[in-house]
Amino acid sequence: MALAWALGSGTLLAQPASVSSAFDLIRPEAVGASIVSNRATAAIIVDGKLQGLVDDLIARSTAFRRQWQRLSRQPRLTLRIELVHHRHVLDAHAATTVVVQPDGSQEATVAVPASTRLAELVAHEVEHVLERLDGVRVATQHSLGDGSVRKASGTFETARAVLVGQVVAAEFRPR
Ligand SMILES: [Zn+2]
Repeated sequence: MALAWALGSGTLLAQPASVSSAFDLIRPEAVGASIVSNRATAAIIVDGKLQGLVDDLIARSTAFRRQWQRLSRQPRLTLRIELVHHRHVLDAHAATTVVVQPDGSQEATVAVPASTRLAELVAHEVEHVLERLDGVRVATQHSLGDGSVRKASGTFETARAVLVGQVVAAEFRPR
């Protein structure tokens, strides 16, 4: 997580509609169930300790619903979202791995440590999964000097994931 270099949160709160429309295409009204196992769509396995949060995010955040809808529709994707102890993630940061199997199916694991910013962390890491599904090669972009990608804690950070995490957190916050 790195927050200081993207848009300020005040800007996000002032213009949520324009911000969220910039990063996805799915209509929010088309949202379905939170867990599906049909292999024509994604298999999403949410840690029992995070299921309540994910349900609340789907209910309260338009941006997160868009993320979830895109994930759910992805064929041959298995996604696990796990709550882990801090010592299991580098520098206590959330971590996402995506492994492409020989048959072309993709197995993604999102590991988030307990945090007061869990909503933002989950949305941020889910966006990294979507980046991979979109074919974004963040290491390549970084080496080419793309300013929207920067190296952080031995991994790569993207403006896109930072922004989505902030948008979802702002929508999730009680009003
Ligand atoms: Zn990140």
